[in-house]
Amino acid sequence: MPDQSFPGNFPVLGQPVDELALAEIKGAILAKLRLAIGKDAGMATRHDWYKAAALALRDRIVHHWLTAEKQSYDAGRKRVYYLSLEFLIGRLFTDALNNMGLLPLFETALGDLGVALSDLRKCEPDAALGNGGLGRLAACFMESMATLAIPAIGYGIRYDFGLFRQIIAQGWQQEYPDEWLGFGNPWEFQRPEVVYHVHFGGNIERITDANGRERVVWHPAETVQAVAYDTPIVGWRGQHVNALRLWSARAPDPLRLDVFNTGDYLGASAEQARAEAICKFLYPNDESPAGRELRLRQEYFFVSASLQDLVQRHLASDGQLRGLPSKVAVQLNDTHPSLAVTELMRILVDLHNFRWEEAWKITVATLSYTNHTLLPEALETWPVELFERLLPRHLDIIYRINVAHLALADARCPDDVDFRASVSLIDEKSGRRVRMGQLAFVGSHRVNGVSAMHSDLMKETVFHDLHYLYPDRITNKTNGITFRRWLMLANPRLTELLREACGEAVLDDPSQLSRLESRASDNAFQQQFRSVKHHNKIALARLIGERLNVRVDPAALFDVQIKRIHEYKRQLLNIIETVALYQAIRDEPQRDWVPRVKIFAGKAAASYRYAKLIIKLINDVAEVVNNDPVVAGRLKVAFLADYNVSLAEVIIPAADLSEQISTAGMEASGTGNMKLALNGALTIGTLDGANIEIRDHVGAENIAIFGMEAMDVVVRRKQGLDATDVIRRSPRLSRAINAIGSGEFSPDDPGRFESIAHALRYLDHYMVSADFDSYYEAQRGIDARWQVVPAWTRASILNVARMAWFSSDRTIREYAEDIWDVPVRGTSPAAAQEPAAQRGATR
Ligand SMILES: *Cc1c(COP(=O)(O)O)cnc(C)c1O
Repeated sequence: MPDQSFPGNFPVLGQPVDELALAEIKGAILAKLRLAIGKDAGMATRHDWYKAAALALRDRIVHHWLTAEKQSYDAGRKRVYYLSLEFLIGRLFTDALNNMGLLPLFETALGDLGVALSDLRKCEPDAALGNGGLGRLAACFMESMATLAIPAIGYGIRYDFGLFRQIIAQGWQQEYPDEWLGFGNPWEFQRPEVVYHVHFGGNIERITDANGRERVVWHPAETVQAVAYDTPIVGWRGQHVNALRLWSARAPDPLRLDVFNTGDYLGASAEQARAEAICKFLYPNDESPAGRELRLRQEYFFVSASLQDLVQRHLASDGQLRGLPSKVAVQLNDTHPSLAVTELMRILVDLHNFRWEEAWKITVATLSYTNHTLLPEALETWPVELFERLLPRHLDIIYRINVAHLALADARCPDDVDFRASVSLIDEKSGRRVRMGQLAFVGSHRVNGVSAMHSDLMKETVFHDLHYLYPDRITNKTNGITFRRWLMLANPRLTELLREACGEAVLDDPSQLSRLESRASDNAFQQQFRSVKHHNKIALARLIGERLNVRVDPAALFDVQIKRIHEYKRQLLNIIETVALYQAIRDEPQRDWVPRVKIFAGKAAASYRYAKLIIKLINDVAEVVNNDPVVAGRLKVAFLADYNVSLAEVIIPAADLSEQISTAGMEASGTGNMKLALNGALTIGTLDGANIEIRDHVGAENIAIFGMEAMDVVVRRKQGLDATDVIRRSPRLSRAINAIGSGEFSPDDPGRFESIAHALRYLDHYMVSADFDSYYEAQRGIDARWQVVPAWTRASILNVARMAWFSSDRTIREYAEDIWDVPVRGTSPAAAQEPAAQRGATR
């Protein structure tokens, strides 16, 4: 990473550092170095210094944490539990320092001790316990819940290995294990006393108890222990701290001594290996469900441990479970924790003797579910046989839920077998399978989509029939991002400028960003704004030079597409446009082409061969374009390896153009789009996901929209996927596809990209060919706008000024009010709440 300095001096602008506090911090860091790390300053490595500083900071957070815990406990406040199989956290050191208001103090203290904070922060591994947007959303939500002082716990799995490390070798993606815990983790507290037993397998027995009630007893075959690890998540200004509680798995007997003594050393720890497999690694799939048994074991493991934990906490304070929904809200992030529906029922009915109907009311009132995808094939399902073998009691519960649920369906739509089949919790079509999306829907009082368009489409597509049965359940909660990480930390220079222009209050209340409106055309302010962007671009140019040995000009237009590599996200559309532009430049090298740098980053699921081929294509095109003397540096292509939160923090502040070009109707929301617009990048995008709401807020004149709309896509797909019609009409597209397909960019293997050319011509499911001309034209429109510097700068400033609504604080406030029913302190001014109607917003 390039050097980052921290001009941001958030808590005490312009004030000298408090000498007493400074001495105390220095003392604390040195004490940690000696007593916790066992080194003295002379011997310490940078890593030792990082750990000592992190531990000194953690001490200060813990005081606030324990106070916050006690206060919410004493007040009997309702708690939120956020269940997510993914948390894409990134680094915590400067994030926590910033929120605690200790960034300047630590920077000075460390400087006095002879180490640079900017060096230490790079020692922290990037915690990547998530694939992409879904996991990053969970991390932003944790930060916002702490900021809004909502008592909350995030529950997930402490994977030994996070998302794989990506290396690009000869243009191909290679995957390596992510050993993020290799040097220990200074943030977490192991809680050896917080252990729950999670059971699998076996059989169930129906008995009649002493009161003559029929009961079901589960006799499991296998037991795994879940051990808690807590990471404190501190909110802005350090007022409130919540825990992220991640579960690690182990066998009840670490070593079978009887087996060991027979000489079978491997067999003696086989049980341990089987248990530990559960938390060994994150499934590296994005958008497509991982259908393996181990995945189902992961899901039940973390759901069961989390529910046992929250039930125990509730019983400790309230003594009974009847009032659970008034004290507990459980949010299911996607279908991965759907088993919470059946597990809570099992706890209530089997373990606490609740009558079925009452248990069901409690369950539905406690749970709510966030949907992240519209594709029916992307909703998780599990074969009934697998379910029965692993979780026999849960399958039994699902059947019973289904009886009442289907009775309701029959009452609403008598004799409609299709309706009944569509809402059933069991899919009978392709072998019998349990449908996790339907289960989560039926067991929740609220089901939310993640952008206005996505929530509307949910009602019309995946959950059309369930919406008919339960019409008040679906609600929308458009995603957001935490401005602390994605503005203050990632872009300290812009933050500094915003503090001067909008006042200090902008740090607490993003609606203050609107004060930029009046400065958007101010020449002097524009220059300051451009100078910030230029600085950030120099840093990114340096990184590209170091990593790829490619020289890029910071004055060029930085065109950025960073996200998981997926066909629906259409990196392919972007690289074909790159090829077409390259050919146009070669045709007329004397023209005054706008210099552009195409920057890509993203990982492809290891099993997703086509996505990996697209990465290779980007790198092959880069090789040719970057080294063509005719182009003379006016077009460069850079694929940066190993996209993660830390890399995003460097790229985003340097972006001029944000590529949000998914096939309309396929991106649920996106949050990368929000991060980039907040940092002043103009968006080129389709009317998809939250792009639509971004347009409504920034104004149609400050965003470049192109391409087919969701309805057009549906209609065209019905007509077939052949794209020869559009290719015939577009010589530019035809020529680009021919060049790719015939091996112009892969002379070492001319047939390498034949499959891509074939798909573009005859199987254009993602509308890459169909949208090409519209996209190419929109890009040339961007070229034209870029050349009018004051107008471009104005649009860029207005993007920043109008993004306040996309703060995850706003999103979390909406969840708190409409779904969780928990009070939020200090609701911010109305200005931050609503889109800017005065600018002609359409909603
Ligand atoms: C924000 C973010 C994402 C999500 O990006 P989209 O463009 O919304 O898909 C994925 N990965 C990382 C590291 C992120 O920071």
